[in-house]
Amino acid sequence: MKEIAIIGGGIGGLTLAICLKNSSYQCHIYEKNTEFREVGAAISVFPNALKVFQAVGLLDNILRVSGVVENVFLKTQSGRILSKSSPHYDLPTICLHRTDLHTVLLENVKAELHTHHQVASVETLDTGKVNLVFTNGTHKTVDAVVGADGLHSVIRQQIINDGSSVFRGYSIWRGVCEMDLDAGYGSETYGNGKRVGIVPIKDGQFGWWATLNEPFMQSDEPEGSRQRLLTHFSDWHYPIPELIRNTKHILKNSLTDRVPVRGWSKGMAVLLGDAAHPTTPNLGQGGCMAIEGAYILAKCIDTYGLTPAAFARYEKLHFPRTERIVKASLQLGKIGQLKNRAICALRNLLISIVPARLNMKLIDSYFAYDVTKLVV
Ligand SMILES: Cc1cc2nc3c(=O)[nH]c(=O)nc-3n(C[C@H](O)[C@H](O)[C@H](O)COP(=O)(O)OP(=O)(O)OC[C@H]3O[C@@H](n4cnc5c(N)ncnc54)[C@H](O)[C@@H]3O)c2cc1C
Repeated sequence: MKEIAIIGGGIGGLTLAICLKNSSYQCHIYEKNTEFREVGAAISVFPNALKVFQAVGLLDNILRVSGVVENVFLKTQSGRILSKSSPHYDLPTICLHRTDLHTVLLENVKAELHTHHQVASVETLDTGKVNLVFTNGTHKTVDAVVGADGLHSVIRQQIINDGSSVFRGYSIWRGVCEMDLDAGYGSETYGNGKRVGIVPIKDGQFGWWATLNEPFMQSDEPEGSRQRLLTHFSDWHYPIPELIRNTKHILKNSLTDRVPVRGWSKGMAVLLGDAAHPTTPNLGQGGCMAIEGAYILAKCIDTYGLTPAAFARYEKLHFPRTERIVKASLQLGKIGQLKNRAICALRNLLISIVPARLNMKLIDSYFAYDVTKLVV
């Protein structure tokens, strides 16, 4: 039986193994951490990605641990509503704890799972097979390798070698907290050079994120993240200060992505998810695209065999959409992080006069897309 090594047990790697479940390949997933786990707060999963989970029979398992977004408000920092819309797709827009999504995926994956296996390098042998070298001193030869190893992908460096990801000028803090809000409440609030988003998880819990323009990897010490955020957001509308105050663990990242480039595969090695097309989270599509990509890659392998032709077809089908999303997300981030007061006032005015229906139409192409209908 031919063997596929998937490097990285994140959303992309696990979903790929699930999509390949009924194929005739033996999947191995190699994860550098000592356990398969997701750190992080909440994740929004849009209907386009839920189509994949529906196709592989996991929709109900995921909905069971999720909250559904019923209304999305765009607001000013004082709480004035600029716009209100409701997702109107045939599948819901949901939010859940990252750990819950990970648990569902892990429970349904059919693969050999290897923790504490950090890939150091990959080498193509004369036979066409691929030899993986791990930092724990072991190695493994397989028929194909999928680099689903995220933003700082080692496999990408061997295939594309385009250096580090690009910092986009702002940081994001995230947390999860119980709050007395309507169950399906979602919002994004615009300030000057800063924003806050809120999404509903299950059981009265809400995920939130906050952004600020600042240098790469700026430290929050000595005051700490909570105090730093309160300095910026304590006079923002309910429940923003309360969410910050009541959240136990606050995470922080400097936001980076990459300029989209083709060339996702070389011989029998191919990239998936953030390793191929990392994006800023302004459209909430990074994970969703990893899920879509996993579905397409599995279909291409089913159709064309475990061959370079399958990898080329996957890239041909997936690249244009990921490129569009990465670019649109970057633009949305720029608009959201505008700092000049007059320009921000104009932005807010535009948001308030464009009918919500039109806004929804603009984003339909991202969220209403059905990858399972793609002819591979
Ligand atoms: C602040 C923020 C908010 C976001 N919100 C959303 C959202 O709401 N919705 C959404 O769809 N997306 C969101 N995203 C994006 C989403 O988190 C990513 O796109 C998604 O996690 C990518 O999945 P992946 O499997 O490609 O990579 P990852 O999830 O990064 O997984 C990579 C895995 O590979 C492992 N690994 C790395 N290197 C090696 C190695 N050398 N050897 C072995 N294992 C290795 C890592 O430990 C990890 O487990 C957000 C991102 C950020 C930063």
